[in-house]
This record gives sequence, C-alpha cells and structure tokens, in this order.
Amino acid sequence: MSERMLMLSSDSEQQRQVASSTEELNFTAFIDLCRFCAIKSGSRFCSLFDNREAEQRQLLFKIRTVLPIVITKEDFLPKKICERCIHQVEQFFAWRTNCVQTEIILRNYAESMRVVSATINFQALLPGYISFQPL
Ligand SMILES: [Zn+2]
Repeated sequence: MSERMLMLSSDSEQQRQVASSTEELNFTAFIDLCRFCAIKSGSRFCSLFDNREAEQRQLLFKIRTVLPIVITKEDFLPKKICERCIHQVEQFFAWRTNCVQTEIILRNYAESMRVVSATINFQALLPGYISFQPL
C-alpha cells in the first residue's frame, strides 16, 4: 500500500497497516513515524525539534497543554508529527482555550449576579425600603 493510499484509508485500515508495518520496521523507519498516530511520514511531516514551523506554531507547547505525553529531545521515540495530527492538536488546543475562556466569563458573570443579588437582598433589609415599593 502506498503512503498516499495509507493516508486516505479509514482508521481501522490505518491501524492494521501500522501493525503490519511494525513487523518490518528498522530503526530508520521507526524514527520516521508520526509520534501521535504511528503513521509513516507522508509529504507533509514536521519535526518537533529544531524546526522553524514547529516553533512558529508552538507545537510542543500545545502538545504539552492538551496531551499527557512527555516528549523530550533525548527520548528514543519518533520526533515527527504528521499533518493530520498537527490539525488535531491545533483544533484541540483552540477548543481547550475556548473552554477555559468560557469558564472565566461564566464565573465572572455568576459572581456579578451573586453581588447584585446580595445587594438587592441587603437593600430589602434597609429601613424605608418598603416606601419605595409600588402599592
Ligand atoms: Zn500523525
């Protein structure tokens, strides 16, 4: 199966392909795998270290933020990421950032509602408050 066909196949098809590829791996092929999906390098592959695109996209920072995976220059695992996984990381990071911002907005809103509610309740206890109420 060519690399192009591999990229177009379904997930289960890809996993089967990875499994059969694994048996034939030598170290050179191993380090050319995507660190995240174990698919062999296609035309759009990016090194995670010493790479301008990876630095500009802050890929390592985003990966550290969204995944429980520790990647170091010194580990003995692949240091490349495929285009598909870059897209996944970017989308997941954007979604995570959005969720965190939403949480802040909701907490601020809830806090201001609590303050308004406390103020109204406090005013209701003040002498003369009743006189402002319509009959
Ligand atoms: Zn990948």
